[in-house]
Amino acid sequence: MTKELKHYINGQWVDSSNPNKLNIINPATQKVIARAPSATKEETEEAIKIAKRMFESGIWSDQSPVARAAVLLQIADLIQENLDELRDLEVQNNGKTKREAESDVEEAVNTFRYYAGLLNMPNGQVYETSGNMQTLIIKEPIGVAGLIVPWNFPLLMSVWKIAPALAAGNSILLKPAEITPMTAVKLFELIDQSDLPKGAATLIMGDGPVVGQTIAESVDVDIVSFTGSTGVGRHIMQAAAGNMKKVSLELGGKSPNIIFDDADLETALDYSLFGIFMGSGQVCSSGSRILVQEGLYDEFVQKYIQKAKKIRVGPGHDEHSQMGAIVSEKHFKSILNYIQIGKEEGANLALGGSRIEGNGLEDGFFIEPTVFTDVTTDMRIVREEIFGPVVTIQKFKDEEEAIKIANDTEYGLAGAVFSTDQNKALRIIKKVRAGITWVNAYHLTNIQAPWGGYKQSGIGRSLSTYGLDEYQETKQININLDPAPIRWFE
Ligand code: NAD
Repeated sequence: MTKELKHYINGQWVDSSNPNKLNIINPATQKVIARAPSATKEETEEAIKIAKRMFESGIWSDQSPVARAAVLLQIADLIQENLDELRDLEVQNNGKTKREAESDVEEAVNTFRYYAGLLNMPNGQVYETSGNMQTLIIKEPIGVAGLIVPWNFPLLMSVWKIAPALAAGNSILLKPAEITPMTAVKLFELIDQSDLPKGAATLIMGDGPVVGQTIAESVDVDIVSFTGSTGVGRHIMQAAAGNMKKVSLELGGKSPNIIFDDADLETALDYSLFGIFMGSGQVCSSGSRILVQEGLYDEFVQKYIQKAKKIRVGPGHDEHSQMGAIVSEKHFKSILNYIQIGKEEGANLALGGSRIEGNGLEDGFFIEPTVFTDVTTDMRIVREEIFGPVVTIQKFKDEEEAIKIANDTEYGLAGAVFSTDQNKALRIIKKVRAGITWVNAYHLTNIQAPWGGYKQSGIGRSLSTYGLDEYQETKQININLDPAPIRWFE
């Protein structure tokens, strides 16, 4: 039976007054798995008001860090206990493989545990200042946090925001992407079982331009934390200007993966495949532009294609599949359109480029691992985020040219360098204008490190202590230890 999803507002599961519902599809089969509500502007405004009341009541924000940590640990344990169900829901709704989904759920558990741990750390400073004055610098919750997330890591991107926002004592409203609400609903069922005060966390589903826009515009929302495309991010910034709310943006990328002649070839090949084809390339930090030095270029391309050809594409629930489906028909068409653009621009389609059919795959949205060579920096397939299993391989001469090509983009999210010369690798990676970088690796990162981009890839950082700081205000309290008149006007 098709599941009817509901909003979670004020600790209750509620229907929307809007009768129009969205069919939630499994992209590997195109079967309808649920129907999601689509909140109206008025419903969203009402939910924000409730979140504000809850914040002002102090029922969560006034709880001690130790008490808040205990709730976060409870939520982590509940996620852990429901790992299999969350993994399978993510596979069904997003199309990713079981292995990818399982790693997302594990990371969700770790993220809640990490922020619970941070709550046991000192979170402020004390200064001895002039005379008898002493200054305390303390951190406080911001208020109501509006959290808007994309479809590529539906659970994990939600948790990257929810865990630090709750840790800091805020009231939160989560808006999942229209097409991938399944794991968010399950997460809120688990939150409902925890001791988080009812009303401190709200789940509201619906269209970006209605629900997301209302959150971004609302004078009662104090921070909007958004992960998604750069275009919508720009829009969110404008909408947020009304009440000068804090804005945190994790946006798109077109990240360079630079491979020098002296790289360990097997390592470079392996991570360069992982860098783009993990998640079917629907990963913001994907290494979608591979740059290879001229001495290694031919051998690299030949071996890369041989290996990419062998990637087994199929439904995520099949243990055999190494790369899953594209999330939706709309996105699937957009990727195929970019492949067409690449051909028309004169790039050499060295591998793939088509929909995969046969063995029942024609029922879903599957695209072959696709490799373009002979590309130039002015081509759209090199400049624009395709967000699919499509990679370009470009040749460079020397260090100077590698850096020039790497940084010739409006984005600055991620980047990598492969070389056995550690000095050179470090020299180059320091010149790559991006927030998340690797030397002789790709995609491996951890909760302790800040995640975010330079340039048009975003503002602010997720994860780590920086991620907690996004959801906190900083206050100075100046204390006169020897109260006596200042006599300024005498
Ligand atoms: P998107 O920008 O289309 O949508 C993201 C979210 O914004 C969705 O919930 C959507 O409903 C909402 N939205 C849409 N229009 C809105 C509006 N006018 N006002 C407010 N909210 C609105 O992005 P997507 O297609 O879901 O996700 C893919 C994008 O996300 C890619 O560009 C990818 O690089 C980026 N991304 C970035 C990171 C990162 O950490 N930097 C992580 C994951 C994804």
